[in-house]
Amino acid sequence: MRLTYGAASNVGLVRTQNEDSFVAGDGIYAVCDGMGGALAGEVASEAACRILMELGRQGSPADELREAVRRANAEILRRSIEEPGMAGMGTTLTAAVRQGDAVVLAHVGDSRAYLLHAGQLRQLTEDHSLVAELVRQGRLTLQQAAAHPHRSVITRALGTEHDVQPDVSTVPLEPGDRLLLCSDGVSGLVPDDRLEELLGSPGTPQEVADALVHEALAHGGDDNATAVVVFAEEGHVATGDAEMIRFGPERRSPNSPPPPRGPLPGHGSIANAAPGWWRRGFRSRRLWKAVAIVILALVVGLAGLAVFNSSVYHVGTVDDQVVLYRGLPATVFGVRMCWVVEESRVSYSRLEPYLRQRVDAHELTTKEEGQRFLRSLDSQS
Ligand code: CA
Repeated sequence: MRLTYGAASNVGLVRTQNEDSFVAGDGIYAVCDGMGGALAGEVASEAACRILMELGRQGSPADELREAVRRANAEILRRSIEEPGMAGMGTTLTAAVRQGDAVVLAHVGDSRAYLLHAGQLRQLTEDHSLVAELVRQGRLTLQQAAAHPHRSVITRALGTEHDVQPDVSTVPLEPGDRLLLCSDGVSGLVPDDRLEELLGSPGTPQEVADALVHEALAHGGDDNATAVVVFAEEGHVATGDAEMIRFGPERRSPNSPPPPRGPLPGHGSIANAAPGWWRRGFRSRRLWKAVAIVILALVVGLAGLAVFNSSVYHVGTVDDQVVLYRGLPATVFGVRMCWVVEESRVSYSRLEPYLRQRVDAHELTTKEEGQRFLRSLDSQS
């Protein structure tokens, strides 16, 4: 049996970064959906894919996948602690490794694996998510889960705990079977009947992968969308079967739709995720937005203050000499806001009390008024 494959990934219509990564080629297929602020999600999903690509492929795929998950978890956790800006990053991992006429699946999080067999779509993985848990407990229907505001809360991810166990299973393949690995940006948006239809549609695996990602965009594209498609076919492994392993920031296949111009309004956040549950959040992205707004407000405020400051004058003294200052009689953040623009020949100590009072008042005035006052003092002396 021969396995052919295709893969596509798109940032979507809402997000500004693609935090999904994938591996496709040479009997190994994976989708990792990273999470965390700024670039952290990308770093996490890419790290997991990189480690999957380093699988020895000598021993049992199940053992090697477990080991890869352990290593990826440890590395992401370590980097989230050691590297600035990486705190709280994590990733899902749904991986398939060929073993004869079967694939071995390893799965953590809410990316999914599906099998299309005899025209019927079957989900091979169980989501490690809050809503999936509630569905298993009979507390939510599938329809309620699909629209649930907390559907992105996941309960298991790489990089969030010291020990993460993947679900591992073996899936026999027959010629004609089609395997799909995808991020929730595809499975969460495209209804199952459309997934079934598109995965079974004519075309190459690459065309099918492109169509699936395109369909996610057509359904709103409110998340990064990634699909890896594998066809099981009669025949031998072709010699020189092109190896395609891609991950990293450039993940758009030539046929997939162009990335949209962002940013567009993002998701709402989840207010009350239960402790211990990993929340796919954008808290730090929101924090940066808030910081940017505060900085902008400060800059605008300071610019306004600077313009106003250079338009006002006041009379004061330097030692005992009466002078005209430009700017406010104040100090802001340790910076004196005024400077001398004109000096009189008059000593403050020799002024009449009522004139001293006027000098002491530091009343704001115009340049002309201030100059007139200084000249009147000069003429009196
Ligand atoms: Ca996602």
